[in-house]
Amino acid sequence: MQAERTSTVVVTGAAGFLGSHICERFLKDGHRVLGIDNLRTGLRANVEFLASLPTGRERFCFVEADASEPWTSWLDRAPEAWMKDVPYVFHFASPASPPLYQRWPLETLAVNSVGLWSALDFATERGARVIFASTSEIYGDPAVSPQPETYFGNVNGIGPRACYDEAKRFGEALIVSYNQAKGTRHGFVRIFNTYGPRMNPDDGRVVVNFLRHAQLGQPLPVQGDGKQTRSFCYVDDLVEGLVRFAKSEEVGPINLGNDREFTILELVAAVQSLYPEKPLALRQLPAAIDDPKRRRPDLSLAKSKLGWSPTIELESGLRRMSEWLATQT
Ligand code: UDP
Repeated sequence: MQAERTSTVVVTGAAGFLGSHICERFLKDGHRVLGIDNLRTGLRANVEFLASLPTGRERFCFVEADASEPWTSWLDRAPEAWMKDVPYVFHFASPASPPLYQRWPLETLAVNSVGLWSALDFATERGARVIFASTSEIYGDPAVSPQPETYFGNVNGIGPRACYDEAKRFGEALIVSYNQAKGTRHGFVRIFNTYGPRMNPDDGRVVVNFLRHAQLGQPLPVQGDGKQTRSFCYVDDLVEGLVRFAKSEEVGPINLGNDREFTILELVAAVQSLYPEKPLALRQLPAAIDDPKRRRPDLSLAKSKLGWSPTIELESGLRRMSEWLATQT
């Protein structure tokens, strides 16, 4: 399905990191964007930024609302005329960092289940396609690497990460079942670690946390022995993958991320190289419970189905993010 320029793209989690970048992309492409966020973990500054874009004044509408509440309770706050032609509903509202989803476990479970269900009903009534943000956490602490979409995962369903992992697993099952029952083609992607400007500086995820500590001249907090791995994708690459997925007929799962794998200690070294004049100390912390020891996406499907692969190297992405972070107080 190709979206017309006058159509309205709906984005839940519009004040969040990925949500705000999706809004920006569609505004720049000339669409109207209806952003929904309850501002629990998202930033008001992000929606103010969107409203300040050249097209934002007329084409961006923000509704401060909880996507887990019935959508009928807040939809009348959006312009009615905007709801006639909706090609995509990006359901990206959810806490996404381990400290934040562990602080808001019930809210995390709700928004990825009942919130997603409302998004599916809303979209289906309008002939729109839901794009749901699933996650590499589906794979848990993986026994295979890199992780292909066919891998069932190794998740502790009652551990401290369960509220997020199981919520996303439920979300995937809901979309697959919904499509079967109703003949729809809603979709989901599995997003691997992503970083970039407009991530909440207090989010707690490793890239923003290391950069912030480095800028403040504080020791970088390394959890565990630092030998665990992650693969970091710059947000512009990810958004391009999301747009291609939305415009395709694919249901998913499809992995989106960067497949260059780093240990956390290698990430420390990459951050250090941004500050050659400032030797960075480390602060050793206990390993997080159920922390995946490695993570790297198999991107074969994204390449073959979407013609997409990431292009931005960690070093240049880190530099761009640190420049943005330096502008934040
Ligand atoms: N981590 C760390 N210091 C931090 C934040 C995270 O050493 O300040 C580690 C964490 O234990 C994990 C990895 O970095 O092994 C990635 O954590 P993050 O919270 O970014 O996301 P995750 O991939 O675990 O969801």
